[in-house]
Formats: sequence, structure tokens, C-alpha cells
Amino acid sequence: MTKLVPVLSAHWDEKDSFTLEAYKRHGGYKASEKALAMDPDAVIQLVKDSGLRGRGGAGFPTGMKWGFIPQGDNKDHYLVVNADESEPGTCKDTPLLMANPHVLIEGCIIACHAIRAKHAFIYIRGEVTHVVRRVNQAIADAYAAGILGNGVDVVLHIGAGAYICGEETALLDSLEGFRGQPRLRPPFPAIAGLYARPTVVNNVESIASVPAIVLNGAEWYQSMGTEKSKGTTLYSLSGHVTNPGQFEAPLGITLREILELSGGVRKGHKLKFWTPGGSSTPLFTDQHLDIPLDYEGVAAAGSMLGTKALQIFDETTCVVRAVLRWTEFYKHESCGKCTPCREGTWWLVQILRDLEAGKGTEADLAKLLDLCDNIMGRSFCALGDGATSPITSSIKYFRDEYIAHLTNGGCPFDPVASTLFVGAGA
Ligand code: SF4
Repeated sequence: MTKLVPVLSAHWDEKDSFTLEAYKRHGGYKASEKALAMDPDAVIQLVKDSGLRGRGGAGFPTGMKWGFIPQGDNKDHYLVVNADESEPGTCKDTPLLMANPHVLIEGCIIACHAIRAKHAFIYIRGEVTHVVRRVNQAIADAYAAGILGNGVDVVLHIGAGAYICGEETALLDSLEGFRGQPRLRPPFPAIAGLYARPTVVNNVESIASVPAIVLNGAEWYQSMGTEKSKGTTLYSLSGHVTNPGQFEAPLGITLREILELSGGVRKGHKLKFWTPGGSSTPLFTDQHLDIPLDYEGVAAAGSMLGTKALQIFDETTCVVRAVLRWTEFYKHESCGKCTPCREGTWWLVQILRDLEAGKGTEADLAKLLDLCDNIMGRSFCALGDGATSPITSSIKYFRDEYIAHLTNGGCPFDPVASTLFVGAGA
């Protein structure tokens, strides 16, 4: 069985793991020393060779992204770290930053050297005040120790709490002081990103993975994971499980293995459905327990690895209610820029509310799927597409449960027995 391999999470159980002292005790800031002595192009090649792929959801190769930054153009270059974690169920960057903010700062120093940037911006959600305080303190400590300020400056920018600002171009607009809405691409951020300058936007976990790669080498990283999905990653287990939390393992582990390692579904209950990568990824059921949780394996089974947010729902959960709750979130967070998403998500909620209350007809299911078809692939950014995923996949696997709401004249589930989503749609 694949085992848990703590790399990012190696010292999280130590009380002072978040301090500069603890980070240095475990070899912290040795990787940046090594990287700064290397040619920037060699650092990019090392990250390319490691096979590291973006951990924010898309899985784009990190080294290749860095390699897109034009060199010798006499322009300022920027690194932007996307810490605007807000997908329902996604909870990996927050614990990472709480437990070890210095690994991100060290990753920023290495990435800035590689792309020849002097400034890194960390864009973080304003709601997570405890994380903001912790990262702020780590940045202050790094400046006081002379780690920052000698060629690389790091600025922590606190967002106002819009889900769309996790989309990289909306994030850049927000960082520049504008309303956060996605930009038309091209030009891509590598050519015209922050302040129209070449910019790399990477997720927290991607940048935090770099110091260990620099220290241990590309081959070490390549030795973990599967053919095209290398290294270890944080799987966030939540919902109806005995021990929710972060489980770091090589890519390709299965949900069955993670459940075995973590105590399983809560006692006396069985798995009904789950998300492999947050609520915008198509649902899986107990038929998918042995799918390798890497980019290719999950895609081949009809979903996406996304942020590896494994939300587990047992048989007490009403799938229609869960999907309604998520759809309300997407409707609320739609930025309004494009019609399919702005209008479509509103209509999805109206129909789902009726279905959940047992008021609709079977024709509404066809209408729901037709609406999804008109949103998917026709929206300006991935938010619209993602909003349709839980709906289409739940109808695929649980059509009978939708019908049961209609024949029952309401939800057939006891709302007291279901400990999640009680009150949704109210
Ligand atoms: Fe905005 Fe939704 Fe269109 Fe994205 S898909 S641009 S969030 S309205």
C-alpha cells in the first residue's frame, strides 16, 4: 500500500514549527542559499526536471511556467503567490501557512531568482486573519534576519473575500486595485501580468514545494508519484470521516488507501459520494475508490484532481441538497462579467430549490442539464464550468434520488440524521 510521505508536512507536529528558529533547525533557507549560487536558468531546468505541476488545480508544469518569462527584456518581473484559497472543501494552503510560513518565503526567494524578479506578492484571503497574522510575522522575521530585503522583497496583500480572485487574472486586477474580474487572454500573465509586466502566478503549495526539490534534487522528486504526476502532495480529507485532516502522500494514492490510513468513513456509515478536488470537480461514488488520485487517473475517470479536497459524504447526506448548497455558492460568487454564468447560475439555483423541495417535475431535470450545457464551455472563466460539475455528475449517478424528491413531495432524507447541509436553501 502507498504510504503517507510527509515532506511539506514533515514537522507540523512540532509546537514551534511556524517559527524561523524551527525552520532553520530543519535545514530551512539552505535551499535558497544553494539556488542563489546557481544560474537562474539552471534553477528553472531543475524545477522542470522534477516534474512539479501546479498544485492550485490546473496541474500546469511549474518549471515550464517559469520558463515562459522573457529574459533580458529590461522589464520588471513579478512573482505572485495565489493564497486566495476558497473553493468549498479546499483547505490545504491554510494549514500549510499556519504550520510553516517560512517554506513559502524560501520558495518565493528561489522562484524570484529563477525568473529574475525582485518582488513577490502573496495574495491571501482577508477572512483568514489568523493566517494573515502568521504570514506577516514570518515575513517580518525574515526581514529582521536579513533573509528578505537583500534582492527580494515580499509583500502580503489581503484580499476582500471574493472567490473569483482565486482566478489568476482576476487576482491580478484585484492586486492592482481594480474590481476582481478575469482578464481576456492572450496576453497571458507571463507576457503582461501584474502592472502589464511579465508575471508568474503560482499556488502556495507549488512554491512551497520548491525548496525541497532544490535541496534533494529533481531525481528524488521524480522518484515519487506516477508517470506524469510526480512528487508528494497534500490531500485534504473532510466530511463524514473518522479523522479529517491533511494527508501528504505521493500522487497516485487512492481514496481507499487514504481512508484506510486515516480511520475510514465515520463508524456505522458507508461512503455515498465524494469530491476528488473540491466542489467544482465532478462527483465520484464508491465505484471510484481505487482511482489513482493523480492528474491523469482522475481525468480518465471523468473528474479532475483539482485541489485534492476529498470531501466525503455518507449515506445520510441528501445529494440534491448538497448540490443546491454548492450551486448557491457559485451563484453568489459569479462575478457577473459574462452572461452564461451570471444568468445561468441564478437559474440553476431556482430549479434546484424547486427540485429539492419536491415542487418541480421530471422535465426540470432536462432543463437543468440543458442549462449546464449552455454554461459549460461558454463561460468566460472556469467558475461557470465548475458550477455545472456537481449538477451533471450528481444527476448521472443519483438521478433516482432527484426523482424521489418529486415523488415524495420533498426531501426523503431525515434532516436531523444528515449532519451536513442542514438548512441549505433556506
Ligand atoms: Fe465572471 Fe462567471 Fe463569467 Fe467567470 S464565468 S467571468 S465568474 S461571470
